[in-house]
Parts: sequence; structure tokens; C-alpha cells
Amino acid sequence: MYDFDDLPDSRTSLRGLTADGDEAWLIRSISQKLYRCPGCGKAVEIGMEHVIVQRIGRIGGTEHQHWHRSCAEDGPMLELRQLRKVSAFETRPGKLAARGQTKAGRRRRDMRRGR
Ligand SMILES: [Zn+2]
Repeated sequence: MYDFDDLPDSRTSLRGLTADGDEAWLIRSISQKLYRCPGCGKAVEIGMEHVIVQRIGRIGGTEHQHWHRSCAEDGPMLELRQLRKVSAFETRPGKLAARGQTKAGRRRRDMRRGR
């Protein structure tokens, strides 16, 4: 179990590893439409501050889900390994999608440590 209680905010995202060794990025977001939280099964309402959990597979490919902040805290944030802060600049739209098109071993190691 990992003791980490800082949720992502507008300047800081989080990056961790799943049990399968996939990357998981946690990004603070405001919902533009209705989503269903995989943690509790209830709606993430439009305009709600929430957490996007985006997985990037070791062999490429990416998928993301929209979580309530409290559900993300009780779910992915407890389960992920090596969770650390990264600049939200690293997780802006498009950047992670591009990362998912490259196999892990070929990705540039340009990740900056959290401030
Ligand atoms: Zn939820």
C-alpha cells in the first residue's frame, strides 16, 4: 500500500505503474460531458472536477477512464506503484496519446521530476 494523498491538480499530474507494468497517468480534469465512474458506477456530472486515469500499455495502446476524485483516491492511487508527481504540461491532450503509439522501450526518457 502506498501512502500518497495528493490528488492531481491543474499544475500537477501523477504517474504510476500498474501491477501489469503499464503506465498510468492521473490527470485533473473538468468534465465536458457525462461520464460513468468505474469506481462507484455513478455519474461524473458535467462541469465536475474529476480525475482522468489514462493507461498506456507497455507494448503501446492507451485507454482512459473518468473517476470521481474520492474514488480515484480509494482506487488507482492506492493500487499504483511508484506514484510520483509530474508537471501537468507532460499530460496535456495529445501528448499521452502520442506516447501510447510508441513501445515503452523506445520512449524518450524526458520525464521531468515533480517540482
Ligand atoms: Zn465514483
